[in-house]
Amino acid sequence: MNMVIFGPPGAGKGTQAKQIVRDRGAVQLSTGDMLRAEIASSSSIGQQVESIIKAGELVPDEIVCAMIDKNIDENPDAAGFIFDGFPRTIAQAESLGELLSEKKMKLDHVIRLSVDDRSLLERITARFEDQGRKDDNPETFQVRLAAYNEQTAPLLPYYADQGLLKEVDGMRGIDEVALNIANVLDEV
Ligand code: AMP
Repeated sequence: MNMVIFGPPGAGKGTQAKQIVRDRGAVQLSTGDMLRAEIASSSSIGQQVESIIKAGELVPDEIVCAMIDKNIDENPDAAGFIFDGFPRTIAQAESLGELLSEKKMKLDHVIRLSVDDRSLLERITARFEDQGRKDDNPETFQVRLAAYNEQTAPLLPYYADQGLLKEVDGMRGIDEVALNIANVLDEV
């Protein structure tokens, strides 16, 4: 089973992806985590993307698509993949479709977590205090939200047209959201 966990920054994508990993043994591929690891190791990709991420903007499609491609190949025995924070543009979605079909794989679900903007800001502010991620400050959050609305939200009709989009109310508690996602994944 391969799925995209989809939503704006602060919707709970990473938290829910980890629950699905725990329950179903799929592999989480978070482009945000991969990029932060590149920055932490001061790799050449890390140096290229650091200021972009700090500003809350999207890094180039080629960089994230290459990382996803490599990480899929590095996990040949995975029970499935949960794409977390990827794709974020139509071009990335098209690349994902192509690279999955080259590997004789396909997407089974796109789960959208819907959360209102005010709650997103509250969650991001709490995460800023807890984890100190530089791009979680309120100013950068607005840039990230604009990037989501302009570049990522167009993926909703894109995946709806493919019959893959399922919506889950992300305003509820972590366990309830996880249960609702599980119900969607188990629907025949
Ligand atoms: P995230 O942890 O998913 O919120 O990502 C943190 C930051 O990494 C984003 O604000 C972007 O700057 C960058 N990023 C993560 N994933 C992508 C992606 N698929 N495409 C472009 N930029 C990304």
